Amino acid sequence: MICDDSDNDGYHTVVGTGPTSSKIARTGQKRKHYKQKFKDEWLSNKDYVSWLQKHSKDQYKAVCSTCDATMNAELSIIKRHSEGTKHKQKLKTLHSNINL
Ligand SMILES: [Zn+2]
Repeated sequence: MICDDSDNDGYHTVVGTGPTSSKIARTGQKRKHYKQKFKDEWLSNKDYVSWLQKHSKDQYKAVCSTCDATMNAELSIIKRHSEGTKHKQKLKTLHSNINL
């Protein structure tokens, strides 16, 4: 067996000129985060209809009647809550209790 360990035809690994100099230009994009008010349309969402409630005093808050939990009235937060294990478990329990 011939171990062909010949020279690599002038390929030199150049150190120090990599793409490290290209800094990703993130010029402090500070988006103002406006508070989201509760939207009544969320109440008609079939995924949320059984538990989502408007906060009685704070229009920027939403309430889960199943977990007795208050959260910010943001769809992403509400969605996350709806996908939570605890929430799902409670919903399940609740529904099985109704069928007593
Ligand atoms: Zn919940």
